[in-house]
Amino acid sequence: MRKMLMSIGGSGVAMGAVIGLYLAVAEVPLVSTAHAEETPKVSPVLARPRDTYYPNTEDLAKDEMRVIACGTGMPTTRAAQAAACFLVELGNGDKFIFDIGSGSAERLSSLQIPYDYLDKIFIGHLHGDHFGSLGELFIGGGLMGRHKPLQIWGPTGPTPELGTAYAVDKMVEMYTWDLAGRAGLVDFRGFKVDVHEFDYKAENAVIYEENGVTIRSFPAIHSIDGPVSFTLEWNGLKFVFGSDTYPNTWFLEYAKDADLVIHECFVAVPDIVSKLGFTPESALLVGTQIHTAPEAFGKVMSAIKPRMAIAYHFFKDWDTTAQVHDRIRKTYDGPLSLADDFMVWNVTKDDIRVRMAVVEEETWSPPAASPAEPPKDADKVQFSKDTGVPSDAMVYSDFIKGGSWDGVDEVLRGVYKEASEALGKEFKYPEK
Ligand SMILES: [Zn+2]
Ligand SMILES: [Zn+2]
Repeated sequence: MRKMLMSIGGSGVAMGAVIGLYLAVAEVPLVSTAHAEETPKVSPVLARPRDTYYPNTEDLAKDEMRVIACGTGMPTTRAAQAAACFLVELGNGDKFIFDIGSGSAERLSSLQIPYDYLDKIFIGHLHGDHFGSLGELFIGGGLMGRHKPLQIWGPTGPTPELGTAYAVDKMVEMYTWDLAGRAGLVDFRGFKVDVHEFDYKAENAVIYEENGVTIRSFPAIHSIDGPVSFTLEWNGLKFVFGSDTYPNTWFLEYAKDADLVIHECFVAVPDIVSKLGFTPESALLVGTQIHTAPEAFGKVMSAIKPRMAIAYHFFKDWDTTAQVHDRIRKTYDGPLSLADDFMVWNVTKDDIRVRMAVVEEETWSPPAASPAEPPKDADKVQFSKDTGVPSDAMVYSDFIKGGSWDGVDEVLRGVYKEASEALGKEFKYPEK
């Protein structure tokens, strides 16, 4: 709620950002923060439409694109902002995740979208703040209703070890114990990944084409060779996601004519020194050469003129937002969103509606889009006396088994009995 107030212009917002918001609305009639057809009928008893997005309460129109920021911050995550992650939802039913930075899996869970639908991830580069939550979505999503392998697209690197396939392979390897400990206990179909690695040097190359959606990749300039940016085109709408990059000519060329353009915009150099504690030398290098400074972000957007420019990758606080905004406005006067987590853009050919989402924090699993399958031989897993366990589960050693306390046997048998009676089906208690 606090975040919504800050962004829509309530108490606590920096003056510059408020002025910017008014300017954006006043100068560009195609960009609105309120829908004309939702002009509220004022009444003491009738509910009025609110300019807030409540996940899982609005249908997506056939020709509509909805983009939700699920991470807009920095490598050091904090409660207020996760790191890079943007969800794109299309009226044809497709959903795509662009980057999955640290902390963003929690944001995705707040949207209450069945995990079967969150199975396509495009990673722009392999810094932790752009794929640090991949493992959480892999494990948590698999457990909470994704009944198919996670599909991951990402670039090669200058060597195989610097590519996406290597990173994902090692991540899965890191989860060796986790996966071994789940096999045979739950529906295991989601605990797999398919990596689609593509050439980081490819220029505007198609890396995904299905169901009327075309996603292309082109090189970015950031840290070392490997990073890329993406465009997504569908139904006459074009979305661009920059991941991290120094301003580059590929972006100027391929992001042209886009509706929504997301490009990094780093913390202003004075704040890198005062807030992040960098030396001025490092601040200048990181803030202007490795990343895109706000003034440079403005230049990029002035060159490509999107229907909506979206700046992210800075801590959006009361005392940093105005700095970033004022510096962008030195070089760009078009439509602008300074992104914060849970900012939402509804895009059609006629309108771009910008709102903040108010989300549920105490979420459980959303409804499964496909039914879960029970584990094979559920009554024989784990404590089975059979040595050749007829399931994928691993068994405890005699040593560990020997430590289990039979004092709870009776109450647990009761739980099995209760389930059998409630569901009219016999569930056999695993004998030890
Ligand atoms: Zn980076
Ligand atoms: Zn980054």
